[in-house]
Amino acid sequence: MAPERLYLFDTTLRDGAQTNGVDFTLGDKLAIAKMLDDLGIDYVEGGYPGANPTDTQLFAENRNLGATFTAFGMTRRPGRSTSNDPGLAALLEAKADAICFVAKSWDYHVRVALETTPEENLASIRDSVGAAVAKGREVLLDCEHFFDGYKANPQFALACAKAAYDEGARWIVLCDTNGGALPHEVETVVGEVIKLIPGDHVGIHAHNDTEQAVANSLAAVRAGARQIQGTLNGLGERCGNANLVSIIPTLKLKPEFADRFEIGVSDAQLESLAHASHRLDEMLNRAPNRHAPYVGESAFATKAGIHASAIVKDPATYEHVPPGRVGNRRKLLVSDQAGKSNVLAELERIGLKIDKDDARIMQLLDVVKEREAIGYAYEAADASFELLARRVLGKVPNYFDVEKFDVNVEQRDNAVGQRVTVSLAVVKVKVDGETLISAAEGNGPVNALDLALRKDLGKYQGYINGLELTDYRVRILNGGTEAVTRVLIESRDESGERWTTVGVSPNIIDASFQALMDSIVYKLVRSGAPA
Ligand SMILES: [Zn+2]
Repeated sequence: MAPERLYLFDTTLRDGAQTNGVDFTLGDKLAIAKMLDDLGIDYVEGGYPGANPTDTQLFAENRNLGATFTAFGMTRRPGRSTSNDPGLAALLEAKADAICFVAKSWDYHVRVALETTPEENLASIRDSVGAAVAKGREVLLDCEHFFDGYKANPQFALACAKAAYDEGARWIVLCDTNGGALPHEVETVVGEVIKLIPGDHVGIHAHNDTEQAVANSLAAVRAGARQIQGTLNGLGERCGNANLVSIIPTLKLKPEFADRFEIGVSDAQLESLAHASHRLDEMLNRAPNRHAPYVGESAFATKAGIHASAIVKDPATYEHVPPGRVGNRRKLLVSDQAGKSNVLAELERIGLKIDKDDARIMQLLDVVKEREAIGYAYEAADASFELLARRVLGKVPNYFDVEKFDVNVEQRDNAVGQRVTVSLAVVKVKVDGETLISAAEGNGPVNALDLALRKDLGKYQGYINGLELTDYRVRILNGGTEAVTRVLIESRDESGERWTTVGVSPNIIDASFQALMDSIVYKLVRSGAPA
């Protein structure tokens, strides 16, 4: 029997953006959309065009994604026509492959929140879905509070879902908006819905308020739903949304689902899951959850002793799935083999050819381990890893030396009596036997240092003119005896290529300096600058 297709719908950029403390820039959104696309997600919900400048701009960009890029917004407001609703117009005009409407499906909300009648709510669903279908868009309807609504008034909840389906919506998505539903309830209710609407048109959108969003999503699939909505790392307001990072491997690796269904995520894409999860955390400047299922650093970590020796005999003794399938690794005191294959995979990814038995691989692995132990994060800093690898393999020219640098921060009154803080950096560089001294003022010490460093690099200046610092993130790590600072710097060049470098030191300027240096050297290597 051919497997049935399950569709994955990611709402990290829309519902996930509601997470406390999360604020995506346009650049973040484009990078995350690309990451989701690379992972094999079917639908990427970008946001709410017309609601804020970032989302409006996002939907004006050409994104070139394989995934169905989806705009989110409300159905027409009560008492208005579709042609006289600016919110709806912005949604219909957005450069999106699909439109996901949200509508009430709980009669209590229709009365209290919308202050309108059940009939007008149904008419709004029909009109809005109809208008988007007429525009040639694929249409989804998020039935807000569907499970609570169903418990209160099943006829009305079902009527809302059916109205959208009859009007041509591709997907009717049942939302557990308050996140309070339990798996057996979800299974029962979805079972009722698919008596009216075929399951391959039904989706589930679960929130995690009882920590069962993943279980609820799987229960919906068991009952017949064929689209799952969720976010990376379970981002979302309150307790978050269903975590796709847990759902994806469960669908791919657990026979109950893997034997019956297929998803858009290939085996190779599954192996990039841990990396994607950690990369998102780094973008948000959050420490990855060590205990996250499948992808957490501790998910396959076993302490020495009886478990570890059994694992060495046969990993299946204490592992529910092989960690490599999701790009994670087994952690034992004797885990060099796992580490080695990881490093080999990374070298292959960046195009460095090396024999798998070359002794320098173990040497590189030792250096990576040592440095990660003191705070370096190479998973987040691809460019610093590449430089480290190239250095161990003996392939990075010594382009220039920084003989000394000096950074001054001064607070004083300016000419018009305002209190100002001024940073000044002076850098002394030796290029090709020639000493060059540059000074620059900046809006902070790191900015001044960056500007001074890139001001005059002699014969290399032409290679770095287009270099630009696009993001700067600092985290204080409380490792061993003293706190250290980790700095991650994201850079880009004139071609739009982006890379991230890392520096670690008890001193924030020193950590920043390391990351800045790596960024410049990486650019010179990539540009093929002569030694
Ligand atoms: Zn939601």
